[in-house]
Amino acid sequence: MSCQIIDSHAHLTMFEPDEVPDVLKRARAAGVCGVIVPATGADDLDRAAELAGAYPDIVAAAGIHPHEASSLDDGLKAHLEQTVERDGIVAVGEIGLDYHYMSSPREDQLRALEWQLDLAASADLPVILHNRESWGDMERILRSRAGRIRGVCHSFAETPEAARLVIEFGLKAGISGMVTFNKGDNIREMVRALELKDLLVETDSPYLAPVPNRGKRNEPAYVVLTAQRIAGELDVAFEELARQTTKNVRELFGLGPGWPETAA
Ligand SMILES: [Zn+2]
Repeated sequence: MSCQIIDSHAHLTMFEPDEVPDVLKRARAAGVCGVIVPATGADDLDRAAELAGAYPDIVAAAGIHPHEASSLDDGLKAHLEQTVERDGIVAVGEIGLDYHYMSSPREDQLRALEWQLDLAASADLPVILHNRESWGDMERILRSRAGRIRGVCHSFAETPEAARLVIEFGLKAGISGMVTFNKGDNIREMVRALELKDLLVETDSPYLAPVPNRGKRNEPAYVVLTAQRIAGELDVAFEELARQTTKNVRELFGLGPGWPETAA
C-alpha cells in the first residue's frame, strides 16, 4: 500500500528489538509509512537514536519524560545535547509535566521542562510535549514562550478552549486512540473545535490502543483506526484527513515529501 499516513508518536523503544521489523511491516501494509519515536529517559535515549539510524521509516526525538525529570543532572544534560545533534533526531521529546503520577517532584519537572525547551530553541527543533493533570503550569509556561515555540502537545486531552490556546501559542494538538474510547466524548468535542491544519494523529504505542483493539498492545498500524474516527468527527474523507495531517507532520518535523526514502 502507498504511503498514506505517519504515526507521529510511538514508543518503539519499548518493543523488543527483533519485533520492530514486523511492526514496521504491518504498519506499511496498513498504509503507515513512517513513525516518530520519542525517547523517554536516559535508558532509551540512545536506543531511539539508533532506531532512527537503523530504519529508513523511523525518525526520533530526544528528551527526558517528566516521570524521570529528577534524573536530569549535568551528565544527562550533556548526553542530551550530544544526542539532539545526531542524524535522524527531529525533535526534543518527550518532555513535559505529569502531576497524575508525580514520579518526579513538581519543581524538578518544571526545571527539566524549561531546560529542555531552551535546548529545543537553541537547537532549532520542535518539541513533543506530555501533559497530564498539569494544564495550569503547562499553559503558563507555553504562554511565556508563545510564538517562539513549535511542536505538538501529544495525546492532548484537555478542553476545546485549552486546545485553541495550544494552537494560538504555535503548537499542534496530537490526537491518540482516546478519541475512539466510549468515554472519549471530551476528546471528540475537542477535535471538532480544531481545524485539520492543527492536528497530528498518533498511537502513543504501546499504550492507548484504539477501539476495537482497546486493551491490546498498541502499534503504529493502528493509527489508521484513530485517523478514521477523527475523519468521522470532522466529517471529512479519511484520505483528506490522512493527507493533511501527514503534511502537518512533515512540516513540523522537517521531513521532506520524499521521506521515508523507501516509500512506495
Ligand atoms: Zn508518549
